[in-house]
Amino acid sequence: MNFAPFPTPLAEAARPWNWRRALLWGALFGLLVVAQSLLVALTLSYEDARAQEHVDQVATEVAARVRQLAGQDLQALQGLLWQDRARPRRMGDEAELLRRLRAVMRIEFRDARLQVLDVAESPYVSPLFKQLPRGQMQVETELACSAAQRQGTQLYSRSYFIPLPGGEGLEVVDLCLPLLNAKAVDSYLVATLSLRHLLEEAVTQDLVRGHELSFVEGDGTRLARTGLSRGAGIYLAERLVDLPGLTLQLKVDASAGRPKLIPNLATALVLGLSLSLFALVILLARDGRRRALAESALAESLAFRHAMENSLITGLRARTMAGSISYVNPAFCAMVGFKAEELLGHGARPDRPDDTPPYWPPEFVEEYRRRHADRSARWAADNRPGGQDPRQGFETVFMRRNGERFPVLIFEAPLLDAQGQQTGWMSAVLDVSDQRRMEELSRQQQERLQATARLATMGEMASLLSHELNQPLAAIASYATASVNLLANEPDDPQTPDLVRQASLRIAEQAERAGRVIKSVHGFVRRREQSRETIAVDQLFDAVLPLVRLQARKSGTRIVLELPEPSPRVRCDRTMVEQVLLNLTRNAIQAMEEHATAPQRLLTLRAAVVDSRWVSISVLDCGPGIPPEVGRQLYTPFFTTRAEGMGLGLSLCRTVVEQHGGAMDYFKREVAPGGTEFRFTLPAANAAPES
Ligand code: ADP
Repeated sequence: MNFAPFPTPLAEAARPWNWRRALLWGALFGLLVVAQSLLVALTLSYEDARAQEHVDQVATEVAARVRQLAGQDLQALQGLLWQDRARPRRMGDEAELLRRLRAVMRIEFRDARLQVLDVAESPYVSPLFKQLPRGQMQVETELACSAAQRQGTQLYSRSYFIPLPGGEGLEVVDLCLPLLNAKAVDSYLVATLSLRHLLEEAVTQDLVRGHELSFVEGDGTRLARTGLSRGAGIYLAERLVDLPGLTLQLKVDASAGRPKLIPNLATALVLGLSLSLFALVILLARDGRRRALAESALAESLAFRHAMENSLITGLRARTMAGSISYVNPAFCAMVGFKAEELLGHGARPDRPDDTPPYWPPEFVEEYRRRHADRSARWAADNRPGGQDPRQGFETVFMRRNGERFPVLIFEAPLLDAQGQQTGWMSAVLDVSDQRRMEELSRQQQERLQATARLATMGEMASLLSHELNQPLAAIASYATASVNLLANEPDDPQTPDLVRQASLRIAEQAERAGRVIKSVHGFVRRREQSRETIAVDQLFDAVLPLVRLQARKSGTRIVLELPEPSPRVRCDRTMVEQVLLNLTRNAIQAMEEHATAPQRLLTLRAAVVDSRWVSISVLDCGPGIPPEVGRQLYTPFFTTRAEGMGLGLSLCRTVVEQHGGAMDYFKREVAPGGTEFRFTLPAANAAPES
């Protein structure tokens, strides 16, 4: 990853935005946390309230039931009292009643002075006053009965504890029912009720399972309790049970603890939803972030594109298929001198002259329209698999606002949409007027330079002419001398006229040759196009051999020709190539004259076919070879090691060969007696012309 060493302007601009975004995200996150916590808290408190409500309801129900049971017991006991008044007392009825009323432990009949007359005990518990005699435990009973007697109604006593065998005991209350006879109390019926049994009778099995129910005193002392489990002390409800002469306090304590967070279904649901919501928010945040990144990348690339288009010095122009301009960049506007608004939309209506692009010179409008139509048609025809892409440049002329015409180079390419359908044309337009001006200037300079160069080569030409004419002139001189000698010394010899005629013919040949040399050297210096002809190599050899023999004879050099059959044909400027051969053979003969003994002097002229395009020609000698220091300067004009040499021969030879497209080089001959091989190539006559 690349990190910019310094904050870029873009990053600077993005910072406040990031802060704000972070703040917004923080606020959203905080709100979500608060909302979720509230939801959980509300759910928990709802559960709490529901549990409390349930306990309250249980307490109310049980209190009502206790009241109802106490009332029922009272009624049953009253019935017993009234029966007794009508008929003699029968304790069998009491026993029957005690079986029915589970809460009643004992029934006593007492006389007006509260002396116990008769007693019936509940069959469900052991007799109550076994541990302690009844006489010691009837304070509350007596109080209740005396109050009942006073008020003339049945009353409950305060509760008191009766110990039972086995360390247990029962909290009981006595219900005292006075029996009135002629307005005076005749006797009493005292029923002892067990608070625990009363409570057990009042509650159902369902309630017993989840609650602890008890009667308590004002100070919280528990008098009696029931319930299969202990109360948790959290959900409590208390109710007062008012009975005649006695108020009992009922306390209900649910065994359920505080609602727990997870097992609670609603809470779990809320939590699950919250987590999903969080996940959703995170996903949304990531999506938003990715979107923001993509947007900023897009904005950056758009800005980059704009900057690039604005900084381009190449004009850009887009046209629709109909030809109307749909886009131009600032460089294009600057080039033609029109504003973008003046250009956009122009060019779609060929029938309206005012719709032509304003930078089209009026004289070219027709031609430009035709050209555009042609190109579109060609693209439509070629736009198939294997078709040609028309992205080639062409030069044309545009007009500036001030009417000035200027040359432009246009590269046009089809504008394709995302589906690959062509929607128009995109052109890159280059103003080449400066380039053209420079080209014209350099052409003029070139011409001037060439004229100067031609003048400079005049001197070179003069030296060349003298060098090249040396041989024909020497030949003419020797033929002329021979003729003069023949005519002077042997005028009467019948062969003399013939010999002189032959010599004159040779002189004429050499004179003509000298003329050709002058012409060709002149042409060479002026760098004119050479006249090329197809000629067999043996013909070239034949043309130079008389002169070569002339030189060779003097030094006793033998000449060997090595030519393939048939003789290869080459395409060349015959005179120039003959000149090359003459130069090389002359150098070879001279090298051997200086350094080899007569029998070793052997000059070989060899031709060979290199390939279908090239033929090589070699001149081989048995001379001393070329030392490296000489070899380095061999082709430098005026370099020579000979006193009478001019040093132009080899330089001229190489120029001629290169003008033919060939190459020239020399090689040291490895076979005895050594020597040098000069080899050059010429184009074969049947070779295809170079592309
Ligand atoms: P010139 O013949 O007038 O000296 P050239 O350009 O023909 O000029 O040759 C340049 C030099 O190259 C000669 O002076 C000679 O030293 C060397 N040279 C040319 N041909 C040979 C050859 N066949 N063997 C040895 N040296 C050669």
